[in-house]
Amino acid sequence: MNPELEVGERTRPGCGWPRLAASILRARLTRTLESFRCNRVFLEGTENCARGGRAPLSASGSRMTPVSLFLRALIISTVASVFAISTTAAESALVPPSYQPIADRIIKRATSEDFAYRRLAELCDKFGPRFSGSKNLEDAIDWCLAEMKKDGFQNVHGEKVMVPNWVRGRESAQLVTPRSRNLPMLGLGGSIATPPEGITASVLVVNSFKDLQTRAADAKGKIIVFDVPYTEYRETVMIRVNGAIEAAKAGAVASLIRSVGPFSMQTPHTGGMRYDPNVKKIPHAAITIEDTMMLHRMQDRGETPVVRLHMTAKQLPDVESRNVIADIVGTEHPEQIVIVSGHIDSWDVGTGAMDDGGGCLAAWEAARLILKLGLKPKRTIRIVLWTNEENGMAGAKTYRRDHKTDLRDHLLGIESDSGAFKPTGFGFAGSEKAMPYLQEIGQLLQPIRPARLAWGCRGADVMQLLTEGVPAMHLEVNRERYFWFHHTDADTIDKLTPKEVQECVAFMAVMAYVVADMPDRLPR
Ligand SMILES: [Zn+2]
Repeated sequence: MNPELEVGERTRPGCGWPRLAASILRARLTRTLESFRCNRVFLEGTENCARGGRAPLSASGSRMTPVSLFLRALIISTVASVFAISTTAAESALVPPSYQPIADRIIKRATSEDFAYRRLAELCDKFGPRFSGSKNLEDAIDWCLAEMKKDGFQNVHGEKVMVPNWVRGRESAQLVTPRSRNLPMLGLGGSIATPPEGITASVLVVNSFKDLQTRAADAKGKIIVFDVPYTEYRETVMIRVNGAIEAAKAGAVASLIRSVGPFSMQTPHTGGMRYDPNVKKIPHAAITIEDTMMLHRMQDRGETPVVRLHMTAKQLPDVESRNVIADIVGTEHPEQIVIVSGHIDSWDVGTGAMDDGGGCLAAWEAARLILKLGLKPKRTIRIVLWTNEENGMAGAKTYRRDHKTDLRDHLLGIESDSGAFKPTGFGFAGSEKAMPYLQEIGQLLQPIRPARLAWGCRGADVMQLLTEGVPAMHLEVNRERYFWFHHTDADTIDKLTPKEVQECVAFMAVMAYVVADMPDRLPR
């Protein structure tokens, strides 16, 4: 639903007047179309940006239809073009061409050293998983702060955040009938425990919430197994998020889901979930794709598999954690801030190399390169390593609360959180006036590949700031393999390559530096 916009053709100097006029009119028309799309995204925010939505209000207060909005914008834009045609030639280069050699330097440096990859390996090997509430996470944060000071950043500090403290404890699942087998499993974050003796019950395999409703008479006293194949993360994840509620409504004693991912080597995937205060809480866990399909086949053959589930998970009182902050203070407008970020917490399995150690290192290294190259941006570039993205987003919410008054001077929040794989561009949620600047900056990445700019942002942390008007952006990468490993024990650095991490660094660095340094303030 978010059509990707190709980076627009740049008007070159020296073309004849008729060609120039035609190209300006074409550019205006493109921007009008973009502004129409963008208004939708900006109004809707993260969750709904791909789903179509409310049209803005007209001056009279009536809800404008997409067609009337578009026509109005088109007329205004065309009339303005006719009168302003002699002055718009200069507008077509919003980002001065002098940034190309700087971008070239950044790209050359980023792609010639694998420091970020080695540092990521050290973070992952030294501290392992960095789950909210854990000592690992706080030790990793201490290490990041110490390293950032050594790097020479300014204002390096942690900002206090209270985070939830869910502890998995011991857990297991066994198939007891028709044969004995240990089922690799992971409790879902926030789940309650089973009684100490565990829960032993027959399973009912269903393939959707609707299927569960139609078979509700069979569900009472059973362990529901949701065998819902992966389509797209946002869609399939709803089984994980709401499965315990729906299963409990049908009278089930526990709920197991097919892990949310397109591929498995007997790897269960954990992740967040919800309870409804008005519905009985039941234990909720993920088993593997292979075992879910096996249970389903057994049921289809008329067998009634029996599973024993044992979980000791506990929700302890909230504890203190920190967002990691480090700045390159701007030389002319230090109060104006461009954020480059990732989230330092991970789930309590694997080592969080992809989710989101790679994103943290891409952001951190982007800023470190700018520092090492002696570039002095006019505005401040701030690294933020958010805490508690995975099970609460308390880091971003606390930043939004604590920095409320300075958020008007936050020009852009960039986040990398889709794995540090081959970068292809950026997704953006913000004003239509900003997009042409970002598209021109995207072109500066030509020596690697031009960055494609699309509407809509998947950076969960920076999207928390969008609600206060801060334009939000995520680094788009080739996510083909990301959900193979996401939230599993296999989220380890060997799945990433130095080359792709380095390209992520280059993309983040060029975007952050130019927005922080260009003559115009990125429009809102
Ligand atoms: Zn993440």
